[in-house]
Amino acid sequence: MRNQLFLFVLLLTLSSFAQPFVLPKLPYAYSDYAPNIDAQTMEIHLTKHHQAYVNNLNKAIKGTMLEGRSLEEILLFITPVVSDAVRNNAGGHYNHSLFWEILAPKSRQGACGSSLNQAIVIDFGNMDSLKKQMFSAAMSRFGSGWAWLMVTPSGSLKVISTPNQDNALMGLCEDRGIPVLGIDVWEHAYYLNYQNRRADYLTAVWDLVDWSKVSEKYDAAKSNTSLLSRLKSVKKNKKKGK
Ligand code: MN
Repeated sequence: MRNQLFLFVLLLTLSSFAQPFVLPKLPYAYSDYAPNIDAQTMEIHLTKHHQAYVNNLNKAIKGTMLEGRSLEEILLFITPVVSDAVRNNAGGHYNHSLFWEILAPKSRQGACGSSLNQAIVIDFGNMDSLKKQMFSAAMSRFGSGWAWLMVTPSGSLKVISTPNQDNALMGLCEDRGIPVLGIDVWEHAYYLNYQNRRADYLTAVWDLVDWSKVSEKYDAAKSNTSLLSRLKSVKKNKKKGK
């Protein structure tokens, strides 16, 4: 009883100090991603598009039970009955934060770690086949969305694509998992330099992928057994409910 009371007071205290979400900093200068992605696209993408997702997410959760929760908790909570404002902006904030993390100029990139390398060989055969699947997911996404490499609840790697700002952590995503690499295929990610040439943009952005960062994310996802089992159990419950 005393423990429960303590927990209640602790949660109350934490929620009253809830900090709004903030825009992350890019690890490199805007111009460092050129010529693959030009400085102006990087700046507008971060300071206008991503900033808008952050602002609108803070607005959408203010005064609700989601305020003060981690971004991951909010995403797991998203079902079809949750407002589009929360869905789109929580997704937008998470997806872009991950995107900035895994991109680096060529000279600053590290190599793919051995655990991820091995998993790619097991699940795709080789890096080239993975690339082909990612490009096909990105090219066949009609309109706006993302192509993803993720760790599934059973621990294997899988390529999927999602519409708009959805991702595989969301409770409403059919194919669930922990994203480790995401490619933004919204036109705002490439229109200034590539206009309608999504394939050219994909080739350019693929060269910016820092595989050492993707490896870090892969290792973290694989060892996050509590999150993986949560993603698995939700899927099971869904099937039972049908
Ligand atoms: Mn974007």
